[in-house]
Amino acid sequence: MSNVLVLNTGSSSIKYQLFDMGRRAVLASGLLERIGEEASRLSHRTEGADPVVVDRRVADHREGLVAIFEAFGPSSGLADGLAAIGHRVVHGGQRFSAPAVVDDEVVEAIREQVPLAPLHNPGNLLGIETARAAFPATPQVAVFDTAFHRTMPPRAYRYALPRDLSSRLRIRRYGFHGTSHAHVARKAADLLGRPLPVVNLITMHLGNGASVAAIAGGRSVDTSMGLTPLEGLVMGTRSGDLDPAIVFYLHREAGLSFDAIDTLLNKESGMKGLTGANDMREVERRAGGGDATAREALDLYCYRIRKYVGAYAAALGRVDALVFTAGVGENSPVVRAGVCEGLEWFGVRVDGARNQARSGQPRAVSTDDSTVPVLVVPTNEELEIAEQTLAAIATPLPR
Ligand code: ADP
Repeated sequence: MSNVLVLNTGSSSIKYQLFDMGRRAVLASGLLERIGEEASRLSHRTEGADPVVVDRRVADHREGLVAIFEAFGPSSGLADGLAAIGHRVVHGGQRFSAPAVVDDEVVEAIREQVPLAPLHNPGNLLGIETARAAFPATPQVAVFDTAFHRTMPPRAYRYALPRDLSSRLRIRRYGFHGTSHAHVARKAADLLGRPLPVVNLITMHLGNGASVAAIAGGRSVDTSMGLTPLEGLVMGTRSGDLDPAIVFYLHREAGLSFDAIDTLLNKESGMKGLTGANDMREVERRAGGGDATAREALDLYCYRIRKYVGAYAAALGRVDALVFTAGVGENSPVVRAGVCEGLEWFGVRVDGARNQARSGQPRAVSTDDSTVPVLVVPTNEELEIAEQTLAAIATPLPR
């Protein structure tokens, strides 16, 4: 029995993949959207078959999981039994530095992190509780987006705020996308042909959300997201770094409430705020057509990343590779070239043809004489969660 179900439960959606870990193969996958709305939709795909779409109202997460289990059907890998269920949990706070085998106490500890991630942890918890009720005999493992960054030293994670206040309210940099940074770091070391503990990497996860991590010998030593995923890079709809006084200014001068500012910075800013489009393909299309606003936004997006590369090169002292991943990082030669432009002094040389070539494989897009290789490594957060889940049930880790 080597099947692992990975659940990524949001407030109104459930994404899932069923893996045969013997073959590292996806047996089935799908997405249930708009839970609680009139028009919920389940798209389910079984390996080697056409996707099936079911449109019907799904009132809550419990009904959602039932609908998903029905979609698997009687002959699916689900019916053969599961080795474990792995859950993506966004915020593990200061408590979790590794995946945790779920029990009542772990559920409570995840609940304690809700104030730190009010939009994410409640959905993740619902997924865990519903799956525990449906599969009481199956081990469940929580895998945290923040855990990989728990190795950051105080100089990287501490904000310069009064200590008592930070400590009472648990204010510090946590970082996110940890599962992805960890996954691509390992793959990048493989591609370089060197053991992970001896390589220093700067990994750039550029999706709708985006973050950079400085990784020394396989351990995260700094990352661009902070207490929440708002800090750092320019993202699809998030502003990234700002002068914090802008928040007070918006409140005083524009009369915006703090909730309205929260929405503005998280949902209406970034590329969407700059250009009206949060999809990088659209921004690139407009920039290619000569749209000056889109060009400037693209330049700003790449420049912000480049500044972090410079900062993390200084933090690491030696960089063995730059690694691009996620939707934009894997698919956009324009962004990769834009980020690396001007980094020649630092030994970075992008090869035009390699950078343009499309591939789903880990690969180098730098020239053979580039002192610092530039790699593209597809991320696979679900497979990483499945692997960490199996590892956690094999050797329950101390918490
Ligand atoms: P998330 O998991 O954070 O929702 P993804 O990692 O799937 O996001 O990345 C989504 C982003 O990737 C979108 O902004 C999309 O425009 C971008 N993207 C996907 N394909 C391309 C491409 N060929 N060129 C540029 N951007 C792309």
